[in-house]
Amino acid sequence: MLSTPPAARQTLHRVFGHSQFRGEQEAIVDHVVSGRDCLVLMPTGGGKSLCYQVPALLREGTAIVVSPLIALMQDQVEALEQLGVRAAFLNSSLSTEAASAVERGLLNGDYDLLYVAPERLLMQRFLGLLDRCTIALFAIDEAHCVSQWGHDFRPEYRELNLLHERWPDVPRIALTATADKPTRDEIVERLGLQDARQFISSFDRPNIRYRVAQKDNARRQLLDFLATHKGEAGIVYCLSRKKVDETAAFLCQHGVKALPYHAGMDAAKRSANQRRFLREEGIVIVATIAFGMGIDKPDVRFVAHMDLPKSIEGYYQETGRAGRDGDPADAWLCYGLGDVVMLQKMIDGGEASDERRWLERRKLDTLLGYCESTRCRRQVLLSSFDEIYPRDCGNCDNCLEPVQTWDATDAARKALSCVYRSGQRFGAAHLIDILRGGNTERIVQFGHQQLSTFGIGQDIDARQWKGVFRQLVAMGLLEVDAEGYGGLRLTDASRPVLKGEKTVFLRQESERVRTKSTRGGSGASATVAMAAADAPVFEALHALRADLAREQNLPAYVIFHDATLREMAAQRPRTLGELGRINGVGLSKLERYGPQVLATLQEAEAA
Ligand code: ADP
Ligand code: ZN
Repeated sequence: MLSTPPAARQTLHRVFGHSQFRGEQEAIVDHVVSGRDCLVLMPTGGGKSLCYQVPALLREGTAIVVSPLIALMQDQVEALEQLGVRAAFLNSSLSTEAASAVERGLLNGDYDLLYVAPERLLMQRFLGLLDRCTIALFAIDEAHCVSQWGHDFRPEYRELNLLHERWPDVPRIALTATADKPTRDEIVERLGLQDARQFISSFDRPNIRYRVAQKDNARRQLLDFLATHKGEAGIVYCLSRKKVDETAAFLCQHGVKALPYHAGMDAAKRSANQRRFLREEGIVIVATIAFGMGIDKPDVRFVAHMDLPKSIEGYYQETGRAGRDGDPADAWLCYGLGDVVMLQKMIDGGEASDERRWLERRKLDTLLGYCESTRCRRQVLLSSFDEIYPRDCGNCDNCLEPVQTWDATDAARKALSCVYRSGQRFGAAHLIDILRGGNTERIVQFGHQQLSTFGIGQDIDARQWKGVFRQLVAMGLLEVDAEGYGGLRLTDASRPVLKGEKTVFLRQESERVRTKSTRGGSGASATVAMAAADAPVFEALHALRADLAREQNLPAYVIFHDATLREMAAQRPRTLGELGRINGVGLSKLERYGPQVLATLQEAEAA
């Protein structure tokens, strides 16, 4: 059996068209090829699939890949077929006849890889079939599904340890993009992987640019943001179904190809929208967090959040759906005091136990810490997975446009005092009116001109006051009255500030919200620069790819990734030999598409 690294590298090059392994891939491939078990923790987009696909081609027999993501199996198999790899899948979506054909193929040794849903794999009949085959390895994808704590729990996953008992000599590779330690420990225990080597990668996603915008006019801000991603695919997350529908409709009115997705929709419509997102180019899907599990579209160029996510871990997972292909991508979060008020009310007003509530509050606090941080966002994000990012990343808003802080001790005292004097039951808007000495109906109605804090904050404009209140809430110096109407009240932490025993530094409200992001500069999005001369060539290749995809009813990225087209446009290969050296062009694709690509390149150059 071939097990030396050169064989693995040759396969990587010949089949997948990649010149080298990334990160730990090579060590993992070696480990599995030599017949040993392992657990692989790698972020989304890290390149987990190659870790079992290459060994599947190097070891004798069929690799059995267990995955809960039925909807994805067909796409994965299609992508492998494009690479000339013999693959198939078995799940409940197949007719009885089609399933028996796959089973016959399996017994015949026709496949290098077979994707199977766990419930199918665990059937006695199927286990019996496997007894009659040569099994190259077991890959257990989405291994965190054994964990009861995650939201993807699958009871069948817990039975997968029988694979080891029944086939002790077949190597197992368990893979997940879930980073936290408790989940990892549970995977090891439940799958009996105590002796397996663990390969743990950094969870950093260097190509994702993180930004947080202060909410001002959220829809307008969203449109400005989307203007920097014209014609590109992305996800816009909203908290409620209603907001999903409204936002999608709003975007359509403004010429964006937007489709809604949430659990309340008719199932057929919902899956049709998901399919369009995967197959067509440049679709923006507006969704609740019901959307995303099992989306492995590599060219999602942005993830926008119109509402705060539930936790920083959730935020990491949701934004992680952007930029799997390694090209620049944007994670953009638009947030304001209203979001904090709403979430605090949801937590405190719910039915949950005190312990649960406390936990949710802590999660929200960590997330607010991220939103309000003036430090490198990547450092804050990764520290929530106990990972230390050792420097400023240079690819988040705080690194690109450092934020000034100001000594807000005096302003904070005025704000807290105003909350106290007005009876701890009003929201920020009214409190700001008091501080700025406004002449509103409510002020008159409550006689708030009489308060000692009336008009003491005229030196600061309303927008900045809004930022002060938001940050005071985020810092726990004020809290939201959940039983009432979302008024603000003092906390234990407010006292030292009120008494002047503690200083408060706040971030300067930036002008970012005001500057149109389309004009580049401070709001510019993360995109790949391309030489002007290459652009028309790229466009021609792009059109060819679209035709090829349409003919075969495949998503375009299955044919070639954008990065591959860019490299073609820059290198302008003239022969099949030269074309074969481009990243992402393996032997099968070279044979299938090489002549057309070369012809397109020639035409584009002549033009
Ligand atoms: P994951 O399953 O970890 O999210 P994938 O296996 O889908 O990641 O890989 C993410 C992307 O990275 C894919 O588009 C894949 O083609 C690409 N990729 C993976 N490994 C390599 C490599 N060694 N060289 C170039 N591209 C790679
Ligand atoms: Zn940074």
